Amino acid sequence: MLKINNLFVTIDGKEIVKGVTLTIKLGEIHALMGPNGSGKSSLAMALMGHPRYQTRNKKQRTSTVELDGEDITVKTPDERARMGLFLAVQYPVGVEGVTVEQLLWRSLQEKIAYNNNQQSHLDVLKFRKDLEKLAKKVGVKPELLRRGINVGFSGGEKKRLEVLQMLVLQPKYAILDETDSGLDIDALLTIAENIKSFVLRPPACHPAGAVRRLAGRSSFVLQKPGILVITHYAKLLQYLQPDYVHIMKNGRIVETGGKELAERIEKEGYK
Ligand code: ADP
Ligand code: MG
Repeated sequence: MLKINNLFVTIDGKEIVKGVTLTIKLGEIHALMGPNGSGKSSLAMALMGHPRYQTRNKKQRTSTVELDGEDITVKTPDERARMGLFLAVQYPVGVEGVTVEQLLWRSLQEKIAYNNNQQSHLDVLKFRKDLEKLAKKVGVKPELLRRGINVGFSGGEKKRLEVLQMLVLQPKYAILDETDSGLDIDALLTIAENIKSFVLRPPACHPAGAVRRLAGRSSFVLQKPGILVITHYAKLLQYLQPDYVHIMKNGRIVETGGKELAERIEKEGYK
């Protein structure tokens, strides 16, 4: 499980997240809602290990984040990713000079190597074929795979690419920060369906399929992943049917309930 215990996050000395405790087990879907500026993205960034989002503060509070029993607060983002954590960021950034295909090829190889304690023997041609299939599924045009990461991508293409990355890396725990925001209805449906099918059953046509057959510790999802979806809309949640809905205000989780809570928020607002 991903166990967040009394997490404080400070940015440039300012406390943004003020003691969040949350446990996400494999197979569970948690939704996190809350007004703009309540600290949802800061929580997500800190979980992934962004160096600007400090979880160790002056007062030495006992914030811990454990991934399958291991404290990850001291780990770098790439180590956390290898261990099976994934973040779809709210505002994906462009990276010139590295193509989507290169990014995904390298990250997947790194993850496989971490799992098996040896270099990955992934076949590049098979990877390319599988990647194109997955891209088609999420509506990412093949030519985008050969462009710089998010360079000149539309808002919808960026969000689809975040989902594609998740499908390729098959994390055990995924945090999706407003992956459904700013999409037209077709994009929203595609994204919702893909997230749902990933949650219920990781994709079959996947280059990491062979990894799953190997024994031992795996940072790839073997059954169902644990998911934290940050969203403002009940629409995605109608698809995903979350087990828990949490409301965050001013850096704290102030209410937790079932999916009916999301419907109430959509009707009545956060108040
Ligand atoms: P949410 O995702 O819930 O809308 P955020 O976590 O993005 O909220 O922001 C919470 C607060 O932290 C806001 O007041 C925001 O201005 C501040 N904040 C977030 N990121 C940074 C940053 N990199 N530098 C300074 N302030 C930040
Ligand atoms: Mg945000």
